Amino acid sequence: MATPARDKVDVDTTSSLTSNGIQHTLSETAPSLIKSANTSTIITDTLTPQNGTTKAPLPQLDASLLRTTLNPTPRPVPLPHSPELASQTICTDHMITVSWTALNGWAAPSLQPFGPLSLMPTASCLNYATQCFEGMKLYRGHDGKLRLFRPQLNCNRMLMSTTRIALPAFPPDELLKLIAKLCATDGDKWLPKDRPGTFLYIRPSMIASDPSLGVQRPKEALLYVVLTCSALAAKNLVGGMRLLASKDDMCRAWPGGFGYAKVGANYGPSLVAQGEAITLGYHQILWLFGEDCTVTEAGASNFFVVWRTREGTLQLVTAGLEARIVLDGVTRRSILELAREKLTSGHGGNLEAVEVVERTFGMVELEEAASEGRLVEAFAAGTAWFVTPVGCIHFRGKDIEVPMVGAGAGRYTAVLKGWLRGIMWGCDGWEGHEWGYVVGK
Ligand SMILES: *Cc1c(COP(=O)(O)O)cnc(C)c1O
Repeated sequence: MATPARDKVDVDTTSSLTSNGIQHTLSETAPSLIKSANTSTIITDTLTPQNGTTKAPLPQLDASLLRTTLNPTPRPVPLPHSPELASQTICTDHMITVSWTALNGWAAPSLQPFGPLSLMPTASCLNYATQCFEGMKLYRGHDGKLRLFRPQLNCNRMLMSTTRIALPAFPPDELLKLIAKLCATDGDKWLPKDRPGTFLYIRPSMIASDPSLGVQRPKEALLYVVLTCSALAAKNLVGGMRLLASKDDMCRAWPGGFGYAKVGANYGPSLVAQGEAITLGYHQILWLFGEDCTVTEAGASNFFVVWRTREGTLQLVTAGLEARIVLDGVTRRSILELAREKLTSGHGGNLEAVEVVERTFGMVELEEAASEGRLVEAFAAGTAWFVTPVGCIHFRGKDIEVPMVGAGAGRYTAVLKGWLRGIMWGCDGWEGHEWGYVVGK
């Protein structure tokens, strides 16, 4: 069996360390992906094969090898509005686990009873934050169907995140098949047909389980997927989400860092600020970057504003991805695509057309728009909080009020949210939309 071939590493020291390292992970752990990764939509790294890979390929992640052990003691489903639901600790009866080693590649995946993992205290993930994850939902539709929302994008992004932190590569389609299998196994019981409009939260994770304390590329990893019950959907923030802009002493992500990847290392260190925000009566941090206070994201959601330029153009604006300090959200991407398709020429019913813009913008611009009466709406968008109108942003000692109308959301926020809801829950004429991925029968 081949061991990692150090003599094969042909590093071009003039090009980027990150992309070289990622290519190395791909060629070592899933050489078959090097071609397809180029064409996938969410991975922005340019991936080209390393020359001279002659080793026999190791077994890749393969959903068709799944072994199933059903839970002999399944638990009751919590009632809607019960305290255990609010605790977000209840998982469904089963989980998926798959182990990987550098020596033997991916093992056969297992669908097994939900339960604790066993790790050595020296495990790489517990010491060096070699962990990444995804966040998706399984929706019980108003038409009775179970759906995922654009799950291929999450699986592609998971691959991007794993390779960023030297965890093994895998074919994203195989991960999707495993997620769909888990959803089909537990979905019917945990999202009862008589509770349409509900969801389970899906958490795929990968950790380095390598028990060696050496600071090095891990040689053992574990991929797992769990489904948790969540009551977040019930939360309707009166007066909208209140955001506290981050201060000069803290930022979430920086150029050359890893803010674009969904790695655990991005989140733990942000919890001090998040806790402060809650203490001070806000819901989330609005993460700014740099001396000009560039607006990046709101907590673990992307951030959008609708404003009118001084020239009179109505715009939907969100931070661009090119600096790699913002996460490429599936919700963000979907809102941009829907807005470009339906709102740029006034197709959105009687709504005025908007220009859709991805670019760097700062707090000063936002403040000016607000004080000159040009700020129209703001909202946060992500899987966890879905589309949530923002009512207020606290920046340098002042609350910037964002206009809100009707039932607490601006009209563009409401129309975009309604379209996404239709696709996710199969209603309002969106039942057959290609972004809805039907699970099971
Ligand atoms: C997960 C996440 C988002 C939202 O991404 P979605 O794919 O829309 O759920 C946005 N920002 C950060 C930092 C995130 O972790």
